[in-house]
Amino acid sequence: MGDNVIPLADLRYAAAIPEVPAHFAAPSGLLSDRLGRPLRDLRISVTDRCNFRCSYCMPKEVFDRDYRFLPQTSLLTFEEIERLSRAFIRHGVRKLRLTGGEPLLRKHLEVLVAKLAALRTPEGDPLDLTLTTNGSLLERKAQALVQAGLRRVTVSLDALDDAVFRRMNDVDFPVVDVLRGIDAALAAGLGPVKVNMVVKRGTNDQEIVPMARYFRDAHGPQVILRFIEYMDVGATNGWRMNEVLPSSEVVRRIAEVFPLDPLAASTPGETAQRWRYRDGAGEVGVISSVTQAFCGECNRARLSTEGKLFLCLFASQGHDLRALLRGTGADIPGRTDDEIAAAIAALWQSREDRYSELRSAQAGPAGSGQRRIEMHYIGG
Ligand code: SAM
Ligand code: SF4
Ligand code: SF4
Repeated sequence: MGDNVIPLADLRYAAAIPEVPAHFAAPSGLLSDRLGRPLRDLRISVTDRCNFRCSYCMPKEVFDRDYRFLPQTSLLTFEEIERLSRAFIRHGVRKLRLTGGEPLLRKHLEVLVAKLAALRTPEGDPLDLTLTTNGSLLERKAQALVQAGLRRVTVSLDALDDAVFRRMNDVDFPVVDVLRGIDAALAAGLGPVKVNMVVKRGTNDQEIVPMARYFRDAHGPQVILRFIEYMDVGATNGWRMNEVLPSSEVVRRIAEVFPLDPLAASTPGETAQRWRYRDGAGEVGVISSVTQAFCGECNRARLSTEGKLFLCLFASQGHDLRALLRGTGADIPGRTDDEIAAAIAALWQSREDRYSELRSAQAGPAGSGQRRIEMHYIGG
């Protein structure tokens, strides 16, 4: 086996069918896990496919022509996603994020957006509905998404320099098309747009200040740039700690050029630490998943494309909610909404994941012998 070939443990089918408790109470919206964390945020992956091959997420050597993506029949339908979302909302979820793979590759995504935009909390409020995209199809789709009810979007962009960006997405995709997507999102009313940049030391860290400068000058407070520490997700990206540039260093480099002041978190459990440009040109954020783990506040659950629930980005096992929706054969029919909600409650109540904190304590990947899900599959 060559040095570049990293064996891929396929975890897509590692999932248990959740038990439905024999006795259960109606959801109160006050669920908490073993570490006292509520359930507020559901990330829904709508496809495991992507038109990019970012080396930190879907390296080309692994995700090549022979790679078998999930078949259409195994994907959750929009109706199934809506049904599960309702169950999560009854348990306290207030934020839904569509992700992937590349979510804009999923056909008729605006139909799903319209369904989710119509959902209401028990108090009658709309959900905080958002989408994370690589931006490649945003120019074409922004308007339809807004018409369907999308109110926010996050666009991933790792460099402003075209050559660096083309290398990182590894499909020769030009920066200018993503910038057009961001412009289209702003024009369609999706501002302020968040732009996420994963920072890899030695690959794109020289792009930190140019990215900050560009978005300040072009869009001011209408674009919030956020820098994400490169994480050891999955088993294929060959992650090494020395490629992580600590967020403290990102902030130091920007502040040298554009003075910054800290801002308070806008919502509990927010992953980004926020900073404001002293001259009023907007804000930036840093997401320090490696150097300053935020598991203590983690209120997120993740639903995979084929309906497996993961309680942590680094979980090695999922819980097959699709089996509850569809049943598992003629003699085991699908479950009712109340039964599915009860099964979700039992799972969340037994949750004690805190992978990033454990990784920090060990100064390296925690439990590195364990298999982990891939980012393109679960969506970040
Ligand atoms: N394709 C969409 C995109 O790129 O925005 C959505 C899915 S992507 C998996 C979601 C986010 O995860 C992106 O912002 C991406 O940069 C980030 N991501 C992927 N692999 C990562 C890694 N190893 N470390 C940190 N962030 C990562
Ligand atoms: Fe695709 Fe997003 Fe992963 Fe890049 S980070 S390969 S755009 S899913
Ligand atoms: Fe949440 Fe797991 Fe990330 Fe910790 S490591 S913040 S528990 S997803």
